[in-house]
Amino acid sequence: MQCPYCQHTNSRVLESRSSEGGQSTRRRRECLNCKHRFTTYERIEFVPITVIKHDGKKESFDASKLLRGMVRACEKTGITHQRLENIVDDIESYLQQRPQRQVTTHEIGQLVLQYLRKENEVAYIRFASVYGRFKGIKDFVETLDQLQQETVSASVSQWSNGSTKNRGESANSQFLSLSHNNSDHV
Ligand SMILES: [Zn+2]
Repeated sequence: MQCPYCQHTNSRVLESRSSEGGQSTRRRRECLNCKHRFTTYERIEFVPITVIKHDGKKESFDASKLLRGMVRACEKTGITHQRLENIVDDIESYLQQRPQRQVTTHEIGQLVLQYLRKENEVAYIRFASVYGRFKGIKDFVETLDQLQQETVSASVSQWSNGSTKNRGESANSQFLSLSHNNSDHV
């Protein structure tokens, strides 16, 4: 770090501390040449991520938008808002760390599904129905079957046991109504 007084490039650090709520590190330095003291701040470089949507349009990744979509899809599934925030944080950190600066809505959807699958089957199916844009009952039942093969659990059995067709249909139309609001990011 070049000294602002004499442009010498070596300094020693007198003190380091976290600042801006942990977002940066403040360092008090002393020039090894002229002994003047100065302060530097170190921050993580924030590189915007571009989202490529289904229709080919591009927009900046917006974590709060993704969170809103997930909150809607996960209503009444018992997943806490805090948990959803944490998932969004994880996804954002992951995207920040990748070398690619672009991500498709499809990839974001897959990431969300990976998390939701571990959390809650109902939330998983609801999000999948929005993000996967089920075209009809057949797609919906196929996804249920696929999920059931992977995870056999009480809540999933409830969905697919008995009159699968009727249950699936009513559930599907309910989910499709979500997709209007939810199509921004997913
Ligand atoms: Zn100096």
